[in-house]
Amino acid sequence: MQRFIRFGARKIDFVLQCTTRRSLTIQVRPDGMVVVNAPNSFPEDKILEKVKLKAPWILKQQEYFSRFPVPLSPRRFVSGETHLYLGRQHKLKVVKATERMIKVYRGQLWVYSDDTSPTVVKAIIGSWQKERANAVFRELFEAWLPRIKRYWKETPRLVIRKMSGRWGSCTGKGSIILNLELIKASKSCIEYVIVHELCHLVHHNHTRQFFKLLEKLLPDWRKRKQRLEDRLA
Ligand SMILES: [Zn+2]
Repeated sequence: MQRFIRFGARKIDFVLQCTTRRSLTIQVRPDGMVVVNAPNSFPEDKILEKVKLKAPWILKQQEYFSRFPVPLSPRRFVSGETHLYLGRQHKLKVVKATERMIKVYRGQLWVYSDDTSPTVVKAIIGSWQKERANAVFRELFEAWLPRIKRYWKETPRLVIRKMSGRWGSCTGKGSIILNLELIKASKSCIEYVIVHELCHLVHHNHTRQFFKLLEKLLPDWRKRKQRLEDRLA
């Protein structure tokens, strides 16, 4: 249940969960989300009062966490929250339906499903992201192949999978691996990662020659890299 309190000029939103425990606990997550676990027997005004008393501590915690970049805030897969797709936030709309499918329409991500529980919605979005990543990454990748041919004769292979801590990599055997998470970035940023990795086919390390080639193929690569880091890192 979503609740909020006002503390001076500040509004503190929190998620209220009922527990069978006897005491009330307040937790501030690294993404700033506040979770209050309250015993079933607690009346709501008492809960709000308790949260209000803890408001200075909550704000201090949120302030502390806000100094660190949050990799990807945990999603709850419910209507109203936003999901990044191709560099844009899309508002999630979960609709009960007989068939499972996803539609992107006017900045909204519509998920139709017979089962609208977060676990199922998460799985539907997950497989849709894989499908989209496959189509979008492959199209951009293939468009760049003729341009890299001058520098590297063989045909590289594209692999898409989940990776942690990096957007892409290039193996010595000529495979370019792209992080599935890149589907959240704009096409221009995805393209930057692809070209960066393609340049690694020719120059394995970040040498002067590497950057010279990258600059030649994608003169505005710095801007794209910056945008990728600002949005997703
Ligand atoms: Zn690199």
